[in-house]
Amino acid sequence: MEAIWRLGSLGLPVCAPLEEQAEADVVVIGAGITGLTTALPLVEAGQRVVVLEAKGVGGGVTGGSTGNLYSTLASGQAALRRKWGDEVAADVVCARSEAIDDIEALIKRFSIECQFRRQSAYRLLTGDRQHSDHSLNDERDALLRAGLDVASAEGPGLPFDSWGIRIPDQAQFNPLHYVQGLASVLIGMGVAIHEHCPVRRVDAKEGLVQTDTASVTARHIVYATHTPKGISLLQAGMLVSREYAVAARLRRGEYPEGIFWLLDPFHSLRSYRHGDTPYLMVVGEKHKTGEHEGEHYQLLREYLSSRFEIETFSHQWSAQQYSSPDGLPYIGRMHGHDNLYMATGFAADGLVWGALAGRIIADQILDHDNPWQARFASRRVTPGKSALQYAKENATVTKHLARDYLGTERIDSFDGIAPGQARVATKSGEKLAIHRTEAGELKVLSAVCPHLKCIVHWNPEESTWDCPCHGSRFDTDGEVIEGPAYRPLSRSEGLG
Ligand SMILES: Cc1cc2nc3c(=O)[nH]c(=O)nc-3n(C[C@H](O)[C@H](O)[C@H](O)COP(=O)(O)OP(=O)(O)OC[C@H]3O[C@@H](n4cnc5c(N)ncnc54)[C@H](O)[C@@H]3O)c2cc1C
Repeated sequence: MEAIWRLGSLGLPVCAPLEEQAEADVVVIGAGITGLTTALPLVEAGQRVVVLEAKGVGGGVTGGSTGNLYSTLASGQAALRRKWGDEVAADVVCARSEAIDDIEALIKRFSIECQFRRQSAYRLLTGDRQHSDHSLNDERDALLRAGLDVASAEGPGLPFDSWGIRIPDQAQFNPLHYVQGLASVLIGMGVAIHEHCPVRRVDAKEGLVQTDTASVTARHIVYATHTPKGISLLQAGMLVSREYAVAARLRRGEYPEGIFWLLDPFHSLRSYRHGDTPYLMVVGEKHKTGEHEGEHYQLLREYLSSRFEIETFSHQWSAQQYSSPDGLPYIGRMHGHDNLYMATGFAADGLVWGALAGRIIADQILDHDNPWQARFASRRVTPGKSALQYAKENATVTKHLARDYLGTERIDSFDGIAPGQARVATKSGEKLAIHRTEAGELKVLSAVCPHLKCIVHWNPEESTWDCPCHGSRFDTDGEVIEGPAYRPLSRSEGLG
């Protein structure tokens, strides 16, 4: 099932596939909110920009997000303040507020139909008020110190007791329609956006970007791919997680209006209207990528059913997050190459970070000052704030390398794998990712992730092979879905 944002999706004029050697000033890899927001000011400044997108416009996490735009972070302003102090915590709010204003201004300027509207955000507790959490007081204090206008509130329109904080003047939109709108504007300006065109190699020294069928040379190359492709030191400290979403129609009762963060445990709730039909969606059930356990969609359905009168569940989807070790995104010029740029570490807040990143990267390329460039620089080194997560994530990689290489079951044939089943096993000394489709077709791939040689794990809810080390994901034919890997899982010789 696809994300709810595809309802009423805009058809884009199709660009011819990139078939030959091309030249540009800037190649933007990835047509999510980061890539397209980067491309626009560059084109307006007269740069020749080519956009290469592995799927369709917005087909990455942008089109799988919740479509909420807020100045604080979903993980909380108090946590940010504890880590970074008052000045940086206030800078985050200021930079993100500006980015939301930029999104709103582009929507108005280009008349992009994406249901943008200003909304309040609520951080709410539920349950026994006697055991009210002191953390709400810290959060209120941190938001006020960062310059946000906050008030105590009950959750309006929620059919259960809830109380907490209201942050006015945040926003919501349909994130897919927004980036499709940006893409239309860019195409109208003569930009080539090549969809279904995965980049397989980047040679920064030569300024060369290669796809399966062609290559582009450019002075600047932007990884707007949510995480940089290939090997980067930053991936070693990144916490990579998946999160799930379901949408439903109610039998009766109100569709609540706002951004609702329900804190015990964290779930994000919002309504969305397509034509005359309203929907309610919930997002949550986060887990580390490659460590899938349990039935996350079912748990989300139960979460909604226990709180609302549900008529039917209409949509479900999942998406990936990259959380940086020091809690701020990495944006801009990469280590080692002055012509290579990236934007990553957005956690659950990357629609706004992506809009900010687009502005920062475009300003760097155009040699314009940007007040936020140093604050979120990808070249920053923050050992005091990052060491713990670096240590944890490296321990995860070591654990998986040891356990998955030594502990894989050995098999002599594929007979034990029933339709619909999948398994990682060793056959004739090779680690295999084996899947039999419901129709009985056997698909056998190497289980070794081409990124850094970890062993992939099966995600039964998505029918994907997910790498627990750095978050690369592959479909059952081995093709890359997302993550740092450039190349697919190789087809195994072991099918005989
Ligand atoms: C469940 C969930 C809900 C979220 N909700 C919100 C929210 O409400 N508000 C918010 O601010 N943030 C939210 N986020 C985070 C936010 O959606 C993302 O951080 C943001 O969309 C990232 O945008 P992006 O353009 O950097 O990446 P993407 O949208 O993932 O775009 C990257 C693009 O690069 C393409 N690509 C990758 N590799 C290649 C290649 N080799 N060649 C060519 N193209 C390639 C991909 O196909 C993709 O289209 C949420 C995240 C999750 C997981």
